[in-house]
Amino acid sequence: MKLPFAESYKIKMVESLRRSTRQEREEWIKEANYNLFKLRSEHVFIDLLTDSGTGAMSDRQWSEMMLGDESYAGASSYFKMKDTIKEITGFEYFLPTHQGRAAENVLFSALVKAGDIIPGNSHFDTTKGHIEFRKAKAVDCTIAEAFDTTINHPFKGNIDLEKLEDVLKSHPKEKIPFIVVTVTCNSSGGQPVSMQNLRDVKQLADKYGIMLIYDSARFAENAYFIKTREEGYTHKSIREIVLEMFSYADAMTMSSKKDAIVNMGGFIALRSKELFEKASVFTIMFEGYITYGGMSGRDMNALAQGLREGTEFDYLETRISQVAYLGQRLVNFGVPVQQPFGGHAIFVDAKRFLPHLPKEQFQAQTLAVELYLESGVRGVEIGALLADRDPDTRENRFPMLELLRLTIPRRVYTNNHMDYVATALANVFERRNSIVKGLRITGEAPIMRHFTVDLAREM
Ligand SMILES: *Cc1c(COP(=O)(O)O)cnc(C)c1O
Repeated sequence: MKLPFAESYKIKMVESLRRSTRQEREEWIKEANYNLFKLRSEHVFIDLLTDSGTGAMSDRQWSEMMLGDESYAGASSYFKMKDTIKEITGFEYFLPTHQGRAAENVLFSALVKAGDIIPGNSHFDTTKGHIEFRKAKAVDCTIAEAFDTTINHPFKGNIDLEKLEDVLKSHPKEKIPFIVVTVTCNSSGGQPVSMQNLRDVKQLADKYGIMLIYDSARFAENAYFIKTREEGYTHKSIREIVLEMFSYADAMTMSSKKDAIVNMGGFIALRSKELFEKASVFTIMFEGYITYGGMSGRDMNALAQGLREGTEFDYLETRISQVAYLGQRLVNFGVPVQQPFGGHAIFVDAKRFLPHLPKEQFQAQTLAVELYLESGVRGVEIGALLADRDPDTRENRFPMLELLRLTIPRRVYTNNHMDYVATALANVFERRNSIVKGLRITGEAPIMRHFTVDLAREM
């Protein structure tokens, strides 16, 4: 017999979870104004809000914490991180930051000015936030297939090269500081970008003399998909694939809370000494001296070790198989989900789940609230709340996809937890026609409203 799949690690330390009753959850979600970010974590049974900073560190990472060098300048932890980044990505220069958005803040401060245009594949919300905050514009050039959850395309994170070239052609070079490619593409469903597409984008970037930057939070998961789905890469190691991916980029921003499997941390890595020096000024202003940039030495050590573990094939297979396990369970129950399954999450298509609710009543958020009430499982809306208002017209933006994201933390839950989640969502699916009222906004912030928005049940 062929041996079945099994996790590439065992468990050394556990954390208790507490179940709750539906009545308790009714109270808690009301107190939270139907915003799941405002729930206390003790009121959540299985937390699939995000895979950001929620992973379980390994015994080796915890050992590295003890070896941290907390010197203000020139700490050995800094050099450990620098050497690891050089080895894995090939980038000569690097700046630590306290998380991914801080990397964006530092790098964009050096590069983006008002009126600029930044094309990419479905920019992540903080990336878009940092672009729009500087009165520049993010232009989405993702392939059309990404916006139809029923199409099975292996690389739904790909850039549409014609759309991209149109943008590059129709604006002066000075207005386009860089192209940003997000690997994997979080906003389109954790979907990967193929090596061929990275190569083609690089060619266009060179043709127009524009820099190419990767938003790299899940670069290792992207490499896993290249290895398992793209011709010519089956026999290459994850590390070889990662090196080739980054060989086409001029710089990267990284949220280490994802594929570096730490609870906090980030960095910028780049090839140009000149840009490194320019960005260093903003690191010192916003994050700290350039050899710690908002991180403690012990955290830099754990991060370096996490980068090594995060780029191992066996680990990636365990992780991505667990995500696919949940996806397959949901498909078996008939629940509409984005296919193929993403790397870090399953995205439930709320428009197909609750087609009778108007989009103005926030279908995905309504579904997230229903799943929480059913089971204590917390997912997150990736839809109209997240898409926010148009910065110019202040009108609500309704994106093509209204998704409920079930994000799987790394090395944290077992497949029994996945069964619980799938069954809970199947129960909601069975009674979907009885969900006739959605939600309305009662209070919101001027930018990135989804974190703090207040909602009420539609009358
Ligand atoms: C998480 C994330 C960020 C922002 O990183 P933080 O560490 O949360 O600040 C940027 N881009 C992508 C694609 C991400 O997933």
